[in-house]
Amino acid sequence: MNKIIILGGGESGVGSAILAQAKGFDVFLSDNGALQDKYKVELEQYGIPYEEKGHTEDLILAATEIIKSPGIPNYVPLVRKAREKGIPILSEMEFAKRYTSAKMICITGSNGKTTTTSLIYHILKSAGLNVGLGGNIGRSFARQVAEENFDYYVLELSSFQLENMYSFKADIAILLNITPDHLDRYDHDMQKYVDAKMRITRNQTEEDAFIFWEEDPIVNKEIKKLVSKGTQYPFAEHKTGNAIAYLKDNNLIINTPKSVFSMEQDLLALEGTHNLYNSLASGITAKLLDITDENLRLSLSDFQGVDHRLEKVAKVRGVQFINDSKATNVNSCWYALQSMKTKVVLILGGTDKGNDYSEIEQLVKDKARALVFLGVDNRKLHTFFDGKVSEIVDTSSMKEAVEKSYALAKEGDTVLLSPCCASFDLFRNYEDRGEQFKDYVRKL
Ligand code: ADP
Repeated sequence: MNKIIILGGGESGVGSAILAQAKGFDVFLSDNGALQDKYKVELEQYGIPYEEKGHTEDLILAATEIIKSPGIPNYVPLVRKAREKGIPILSEMEFAKRYTSAKMICITGSNGKTTTTSLIYHILKSAGLNVGLGGNIGRSFARQVAEENFDYYVLELSSFQLENMYSFKADIAILLNITPDHLDRYDHDMQKYVDAKMRITRNQTEEDAFIFWEEDPIVNKEIKKLVSKGTQYPFAEHKTGNAIAYLKDNNLIINTPKSVFSMEQDLLALEGTHNLYNSLASGITAKLLDITDENLRLSLSDFQGVDHRLEKVAKVRGVQFINDSKATNVNSCWYALQSMKTKVVLILGGTDKGNDYSEIEQLVKDKARALVFLGVDNRKLHTFFDGKVSEIVDTSSMKEAVEKSYALAKEGDTVLLSPCCASFDLFRNYEDRGEQFKDYVRKL
């Protein structure tokens, strides 16, 4: 009997295990760390054997196929050994796609994935389509394939998932942008990361759609090398090149072969240039799926946004507090700063992923009244920013960061948490960082 080994016992791995068992495979799940209780209970309910806090190598290397969770790097010795033995290593998406004929709408990019995935899901669901949401968000895709019967899936795909996808095909593929991120997992070789992202177009034929941001220099270069044949639907801020969706006289225009859609930018729920891109990509998708203009307009204007992404928290005595804790790289902070219309007290810092702060230098000089560094080790931030902004303070807890920011802000200013960094030095994750920020703001 075919033996499926699942590496990693988070939402992705447990969902894959449930699907593999439902399809009659002999399944075993193995995790190097401790499993969450809720997943252990589930595996036991389903009678799926598992191990935690270590891998039994012999067992794993006897697999017919391995489904690897995206959190496990390809360079770990066990994965390397499996590859050397010729065992196929799949991502959850590759495996689960075998068991559904639903249409796949897949979103990738360095920034904006969750926002765009959630927005597209909101549009399709509001229009009454039978649609599931998965990938990096919420319930795993594999679990839903096992338990639901959706006609469409909107999937957020990271480069890690794309790496282990082979015959998977996106009916609609969206590539928002490519900027340096996660290079620690790509031997610090940017091209390897770019190649992983470009796999979103793999296996596409002319009947499939490839939606991308035309102004992105990296994407632009890669397009020229593309071998897959998906019909291209580029978008841009203004009508340039081949863009079929753009802004014109403060109206968002989406010009697909079937129709022309337009809507005032002011009516969009999401603010800022980066969110204009996210709205354009979502709008093209909607029109390709024949969502009516009326439904699209409504959904683009009543979308609630996603927590921790430029989330307005509160105004305290004239100071607006914004939580952008999910800005874990420099590029997303750039967009956050760029969308600010007031002077800013910027809270940044945390676990640096090899950041180059020169990308935000000019915006910081133009807009920052003060910088509040929040991290265990702020030396790199000081080296870069000292002397460039008049007020810089160090903090080592969110409470302190919120209180000092508030003291530094003047009426009419914005206090923006957009850290450019991962959160693991002081917080459990970016959600914890954002929640603490909101709590302390509410206590002011
Ligand atoms: P991801 O899922 O790719 O990490 P999110 O939607 O969670 O992206 O947004 C992460 C951060 O990136 C947010 O803080 C937001 O300010 C910024 N952002 C969102 N959309 C874009 C975009 N299209 N281009 C650049 N930055 C973006």
